[in-house]
Amino acid sequence: MVKDIGIDLGTVNTLINIKGQGIVLDEPSVVAVNQLTKEPIAFGKTANDMIGRTSQDIEIVFPLKGGVIADFDATMAMVDHFVKKLKITSVLTKPDMLICVPTSITDVERKAIINMAEQSGAKRVYVEDEPKVAAVGSGLNIFIPSGNMIIDLGGGTTDIAVISLGSTVVSKSIKIAGDQMDEDIIRYVKENYELLIGDVMAEKVKKKLARATPDIEPASMRVSGRDLATGLPVTKTIKSDDISEAIATTLDTIIATAAGVLEKTPPELSSDIMFKGIYLTGGGALIKGIEGLFSEALGVKVIVPENPLQSVALGAGDLLEKLNSKTGFWTSIKRLFTSRQIFINPTGRENNQGAAVRVEGRSASVPKSDSATKQVGKNDHAHHTTDDKEKHEDLPQEDQLAVREEQLPSNTSVKDTTEEVSDDTINHAETGSDSSEQETENNSEETKESATEKPSNSSEENSEKLS
Ligand code: ADP
Ligand code: MG
Repeated sequence: MVKDIGIDLGTVNTLINIKGQGIVLDEPSVVAVNQLTKEPIAFGKTANDMIGRTSQDIEIVFPLKGGVIADFDATMAMVDHFVKKLKITSVLTKPDMLICVPTSITDVERKAIINMAEQSGAKRVYVEDEPKVAAVGSGLNIFIPSGNMIIDLGGGTTDIAVISLGSTVVSKSIKIAGDQMDEDIIRYVKENYELLIGDVMAEKVKKKLARATPDIEPASMRVSGRDLATGLPVTKTIKSDDISEAIATTLDTIIATAAGVLEKTPPELSSDIMFKGIYLTGGGALIKGIEGLFSEALGVKVIVPENPLQSVALGAGDLLEKLNSKTGFWTSIKRLFTSRQIFINPTGRENNQGAAVRVEGRSASVPKSDSATKQVGKNDHAHHTTDDKEKHEDLPQEDQLAVREEQLPSNTSVKDTTEEVSDDTINHAETGSDSSEQETENNSEETKESATEKPSNSSEENSEKLS
């Protein structure tokens, strides 16, 4: 039987959900590479345990660090390893794969991910932005005409999005998140304690001592590192107050970004969000007192789901159920004879516009709307563009032409085809910058007029028709 899978390809953690089974893999996004042979030798937890403890011959690679695919080969080897480990792919059993990615990745990276999934044995590939999937995994119904706001505070990126009718209305992605807090802690401890600590220790300190509000019981911790004065190993006691001070600016930046998104949110959706609250997901949601800080600063209640580290992976499982409910022997056989199909961004298209976008043949990205994308914020060093022409120069011509809409229900109003198949969350971000911030807005009229049904119907019909 084919086991469709959802992959949360996070900057710090990769999780895999097998449809109907739940989360079966949860490992750090880390690869150890032999420098002599350039071959990857360990992945996930095994590679993570080697951090700071390797010889010169072994390099530890964080393939998605910073919210971009910094090392594509390593990312691919890692995903391939994890998928193979689950023993779910073979010539006879090619699963559909839903891959959840940070909103900051480029179209080229998106396309590369699709190729990667195919090479790992995927039949159909879906790519979706993490905040949308995190919203689904937090139990929100993002497909109805009602505003939902998600702040996904991960390791490399914080993705903030307002979603309605399965589509992102306003969003912002900043490369300031958990990793930045680790760096803040390293710097603080260095400056105030003359103690040099590593990334692993900084993260441990953060998890144990970080407090977002002063009302939480303080704590302290013995922290080992190198004394900057003597150069010798030393252990010093660090207090939670220190760590709260160290990460305060980073938390403020995230709050300011969320406030910016709220300011751009249309009033009807704002009132929905006021009523429902803002959902905070990702590992950063586990910082003690963070709900209180955020809700105080934003004037809206903040809800952290039970398992914020798993929200995306859980949502991926839910979406897979909706995308293709047919399993079993005959479905597997039928799929064998089906031409290769690639679906991109299942949620928005199939519901919001009432149409699924299918890209036939080679992997491709989807044309983007003319929605405003602008650079904001003091940390913005990246360049983003909404120029469709420029965007699609990355794609082979046949791919650019292959995108098309299908199966529009009669109640769906269509004004502009490009708009219908546009992706409102894809942004261009040049890699290589230290930090960047991007914003996408799409207050399209079509969004408000379009179908309100859950996407399952159209997607199932679509899958059936294609099978
Ligand atoms: P990503 O999706 O980018 O892989 P995750 O959502 O998995 O990120 O979150 C990883 C981040 O969350 C890391 O920076 C990690 O240090 C942080 N994190 C995990 N648990 C905690 C905790 N208890 N307190 C504070 N931060 C945490
Ligand atoms: Mg994540």
